[in-house]
Amino acid sequence: MGKNILLIDKLNSTKELTKEEFISLFSTFTDEDIEYARSIACKIRDKWYGKKIYLRGLIEISSICKNDCFYCGIRRSNSAAERYRLSKEDILECCATGYSLGYRTFVLQGGEDLYYNDDVLCDIISSIKKLYPDVAVTLSIGEKTYHQYKKYYDAGADRYLLRHETANEEHYYKLHPQSMSFTNRIECLYNLKKIGYQVGTGFMVESPYQTPETLAEDFIFLKELNPDMVGIGPYIVHHSTPFANEQSGTSRTTLFLLSLIRIMLPYVLLPATTSLGTIDNDGQIKGFLSGANVMMPNLSPVNVRKKYLLYDNKLCSGNEAAEFKSSLCKKLKTFGFEVLDSRGDVKKEPLHN
Ligand code: SAM
Repeated sequence: MGKNILLIDKLNSTKELTKEEFISLFSTFTDEDIEYARSIACKIRDKWYGKKIYLRGLIEISSICKNDCFYCGIRRSNSAAERYRLSKEDILECCATGYSLGYRTFVLQGGEDLYYNDDVLCDIISSIKKLYPDVAVTLSIGEKTYHQYKKYYDAGADRYLLRHETANEEHYYKLHPQSMSFTNRIECLYNLKKIGYQVGTGFMVESPYQTPETLAEDFIFLKELNPDMVGIGPYIVHHSTPFANEQSGTSRTTLFLLSLIRIMLPYVLLPATTSLGTIDNDGQIKGFLSGANVMMPNLSPVNVRKKYLLYDNKLCSGNEAAEFKSSLCKKLKTFGFEVLDSRGDVKKEPLHN
C-alpha cells in the first residue's frame, strides 16, 4: 500500500498526524490518494449527518472594511471597490425573505465596518431572534474584544465564523499588514469558544506563500481548537489587490483538504464554499461528494451582491442565490442529498451505534 494511503488510514484511526506526516502527505498526494480520502470522508459524513445538507442564508451586511488584508477585494486601500452597508431594516427584510424560503440560519457577514457599534449590532441580533425564535444567528464580522463578543452572545447570537487564515505567524504577516495581529486573531477564537458560541474557523487553500509546512500547522491548529465548523475555499485573485499577479488556488487541492478535515474532525460542519463554486462550476457538488455538508446561499439584497467582491468573478446568481432554493434542492437530490429545514446545529456528541 502507498505511503499516503497509510497516512490517510492513520488519520482516520487516530484523528491526528505529526507535522512531518502532514507535510509529507501535502507534498506528494496523488489522484488515488484524493479518491481514497474522499470515500472515507463521505462514509464519516453520512454516519454523523446522513445525506442532509445544511443551508445558511448569507447576508453580506457591509463592504466597508477598516482592514487592509493583501488578498481581499474589499480591503480599505482598494479605492475602486464599491462600498455599501445594509441598515437594520434592510437586514430584517433579508431575514423575512429567507425565513419564508425556509432558511433557519442567517449568517451576518461583512467587512470590519465601525458603523455597526455594539448597540447597533445587539439591536439587530435581538430583533432577528425576537421575530424568528427558531433561527440561529451567525456572525462573521471580524475581530472584537471578549466583552463585545459576550454582548452579542447575550443579545442572541449563536455562532461565529472567524477564519484564522493561517496558523503560521510568518505566513500571517505575508497575507496581512503589520497593523493586524496574528496573536489577537487566535485569541479571538479561544474567547468565542469560552463564551459558548459554536465557532467556525478556516483558511484559504493555496493562498500566496502557503506551503505544505504552513498547511500542516493549519491542520494541527484545527485539531487543537476543535471548532464546530471549518470553512475552507480556494484563494482567488482579485485584480485590484497587491496579490493581483498571484495564482488562484485549485478545486483539486481544496477537495482533498475537505476530505482530510472531515476525516480528522468527523462531527464538523463543513461548507462547500462559494469560492469553490467560483473556481469550478461543479465545485460545490464535488465538495459534498468529498465530505462537506453545509452551503451558504446568498440572501443579500440583489442590488448589492456584485459589490461584495472579495475576489474576481465571485458567484452571486444561479443556484448560489438563496431565492433559487428549490432548483438547488432538485440538483442536490439528483446526487442523493436532501436539504435540512431547521437550524442545523453541530452534532458534537459521540455517536453510539
Ligand atoms: N471581516 C470578517 C473577517 O475578517 O472574518 C469577515 C469577512 S472576510 C471578507 C471573509 C473571508 O473571505 C475571509 O476570512 C477570507 O478567508 C475570505 N476571502 C477574502 N478574500 C478572498 C480571496 N481573494 N479569495 C478567497 N477568499 C477570500
